[in-house]
Amino acid sequence: MSLIRIKGKNMLSIKNKIVLVTGASSGIGMACVKAFVALGAKVIMGARRIEKMYQIMDELEVPKEQVLIVKLDVQNQKEVEAMVQSLPDAWKNIEILVNNAGVALSSDAIQVGDSKNWDIMIDTNIKGLLYVTRAILPDMIKRGVGHIINMGSIAGQACYPGGNVYAATKHAVRAISQSLRLDLMGTNIRVSEVQPGAVETEFSVVRWNDQEKANAFYQDFIPLIGDDIADAVVYCATRKPHVNVSEIVVMPVAQASVNHIHRNKENI
Ligand code: NAP
Repeated sequence: MSLIRIKGKNMLSIKNKIVLVTGASSGIGMACVKAFVALGAKVIMGARRIEKMYQIMDELEVPKEQVLIVKLDVQNQKEVEAMVQSLPDAWKNIEILVNNAGVALSSDAIQVGDSKNWDIMIDTNIKGLLYVTRAILPDMIKRGVGHIINMGSIAGQACYPGGNVYAATKHAVRAISQSLRLDLMGTNIRVSEVQPGAVETEFSVVRWNDQEKANAFYQDFIPLIGDDIADAVVYCATRKPHVNVSEIVVMPVAQASVNHIHRNKENI
């Protein structure tokens, strides 16, 4: 492999590069799609809610040739593999994989927790990320080019009451990201992890199945929005080829740790 250090221009063009974003039907994933499309990339949007992705594509007025929508449940390894196998030729050479699909379910303590919720979080956030990565990496390695960007969390570095299994899955995402960098040494494949603090998306509605509770959580401070995290993802993806951004932590100014948010009571 030739050793190239590109001097001067800091940003790598991703025009016409193929990007797969999992969990593209909402929140951070949707914002990533918007950001990549704006830079001229071709984006494969994957999630379970197909209709929602078509709706997003219409709302964003994305040129049809720039986006491919695929039904994807990352929990199902066979479905993941079949999706990758059945991509049209023009979409096969995925250069950037954004492993964003993820869920938190409930804030119950472990002693009263529902193991069905644990299974879904583990199957989606850990096993799903592994299934998609496993299906796509060999081809990246063959072509000698690729970038895996994993969506971690500040819950991957610290725990909070009721965060238990979700935090465990995000600790696993961090361990997998670090392990990938070791396993991929010498392959030219880049591995980055973006670790957001509180972002207002559908995340808390899904977690608590309670729109009012979710609204109340974000009410008295300014949380991040999906675009703030998409900025960090695009930053990783557009560095010069010899640069690997290993980890980025992005927090709202009002948040100092997983469990410390300054809430402005005057706004309530
Ligand atoms: P969101 O708005 O709820 O989006 C989650 C996305 O994941 C949806 O598009 C959902 O699509 C997809 N998804 C869930 N299960 C899936 C499955 N089995 N297969 C395929 N896609 C699946 O939440 P978000 O905040 O954007 O979350 C995105 C990522 O950021 C997650 O990994 C989350 O852990 C992480 N994160 C979020 C925050 C936050 O405060 N919001 C903070 C740190 C990290 P379908 O339901 O259509 O499948």
